[in-house]
Amino acid sequence: METRVEHAVDQLKSGGVRMTPQRYAILNYLMESIIHPTADDIFRALSPQYPSLSIATVYNNLKVFVDAGLVRELTYGDDSSRFDADLSDHYHVTCTKCGTIVDFDHPPVKDVEQAAAEATGFTVFGHRLELYGLCPTCKGMHS
Ligand code: ZN
Ligand code: MN
Repeated sequence: METRVEHAVDQLKSGGVRMTPQRYAILNYLMESIIHPTADDIFRALSPQYPSLSIATVYNNLKVFVDAGLVRELTYGDDSSRFDADLSDHYHVTCTKCGTIVDFDHPPVKDVEQAAAEATGFTVFGHRLELYGLCPTCKGMHS
């Protein structure tokens, strides 16, 4: 049985992307991560093991993965993009205090798309929904 990383590697190779140890490490980190890391998070996590890794290499690889459809880029205004290798339909809840992002499984809210289509005459084919609040840890702290 092929693992998710192996499957992703095969997909990249068949798209003509050469595999390097650093590229593999970044991909593997993303696939195993649940924290929705920024490029900087990835760099800091992997640089002890890969001293020659540069932040530019991390950015280049993230672009390769996003272009190949293996990873989703999550943008939040002017903040650093975060990256998610979980491509299933899910929403994110963000803690406004510590920045933690947690997955939230919920069927896509198609009725909003329907309502928007009816109200505007658009053909609506997607939406973006972000939820904000305080995570359990931050909620428990006296500020
Ligand atoms: Zn928090
Ligand atoms: Mn996610």
